[in-house]
Amino acid sequence: SAARRSYASNNPNSLKAYEQATESLPGGGTRSSIFIHPFPLFIERGDGSEIIDVDGHKYLDFVSDFTSGIYGKTNPVLKKAIIEGLDNGLQLGAHTLPESSLSSELCSRFPSMHLIRFANSGTEANILAISTGLHYTGRKKVVVFEGGYHGSVLSHFGEDGGDLKVPYDFVVCPYNDITGTNSIIRKYAEEIGVIIVEPMLGAGGCIPGNPEFLQSLRELSTEIGAVLIFDEVQTARLSIGGRQKILGITPDMTTLGKFFGGGFAFGAFGGKKAIMSLFDARQPNSISHGGTFNNSPLTMIAGLTAVQHILTEENLRNLNELGDSLRENLNKVFDEEELPFKMTGLGSINQLHYTSPSQKREGLDLFFFCLLDRGYWIAQRGLVSLNFAMTNKDVKGFENAVIEAARGVKSSL
Ligand code: PLP
Repeated sequence: SAARRSYASNNPNSLKAYEQATESLPGGGTRSSIFIHPFPLFIERGDGSEIIDVDGHKYLDFVSDFTSGIYGKTNPVLKKAIIEGLDNGLQLGAHTLPESSLSSELCSRFPSMHLIRFANSGTEANILAISTGLHYTGRKKVVVFEGGYHGSVLSHFGEDGGDLKVPYDFVVCPYNDITGTNSIIRKYAEEIGVIIVEPMLGAGGCIPGNPEFLQSLRELSTEIGAVLIFDEVQTARLSIGGRQKILGITPDMTTLGKFFGGGFAFGAFGGKKAIMSLFDARQPNSISHGGTFNNSPLTMIAGLTAVQHILTEENLRNLNELGDSLRENLNKVFDEEELPFKMTGLGSINQLHYTSPSQKREGLDLFFFCLLDRGYWIAQRGLVSLNFAMTNKDVKGFENAVIEAARGVKSSL
């Protein structure tokens, strides 16, 4: 398309960098989720809410690294803590005080987490949580949901996803469908050890789980003796205790990731004492769980600083309110002007969908390149995630640019 051709000719340095990268990386990158067709932009640096690419273009970043970049590109409070932390050693290979302070803070925030263990990514946390749930119940099957995403080896997008799978015995159920899910789960009731669910489908399109649906999973898990896991890797930022605290639904286990490492690689899984005590090294038959970087000192210090000073109840409320009003304003204009777009999501995590049944790919594509031309960076699939470096003015500017881009798409397709 013309939009793609103009993108290609405007970004010669990115194209060159990309061609070079394909010589050592399959597809030129190491994260499939950030690939852009026909080739991705190479970003040189970030500043506040902006990113600057290798051709010198500046964009306001509304991807925020798929929700993990909640602090923006630079944050003075984190920077100071990390620099001070550097003086105490890169790696210590031992128990540290920031590690137990961070665990204590997270356990006090999430009602389901009596005890917690750290890992290095959301994917790893989910693999560990699922394995723990199966071990605890002595069962084999894992219930997951259509459109669910629990990490690079744990996604359930269906046939066109091309997902790499770990050898779990998955039972895939329809999200937000109480009757459909009930009948499948009852069929395998005695074999199901774990039910894992996102309180809002994230990568699956920012589709909030209905409270009644999530509550029905709570009741069903208890009834059949399965471990219910809430994957709050994204939704943990919707309130100080994640979506579970907002809804008052307490799973048996919870997984976290992304922003709780204060910008560093992070994952965590935790839950009821009876389950998590399996890892208590004082017990004779405890499960061994290692991980060289599980308690990396810089991650612990950055994470602790973030929860103490940045991820406060007030800051999270403000950011989520900003996202709620962006979504409401946009959907109002989309409706009034019959523009073929809709924004779904909760708080500061949202997704723009192209709603016309025809030319779906072209519509979202054109929209994406229109926004890039105006200096706004969203995920090519439509994800829009806010961060603390953004001002109200940035978000208002984005709102206007989205409306203009949507009008442009409507008139040209
Ligand atoms: N779970 C959810 C809900 C996610 O959104 C993600 C990442 O996007 C993950 C798990 C995986 O986390 P990570 O990318 O840190 O492995």
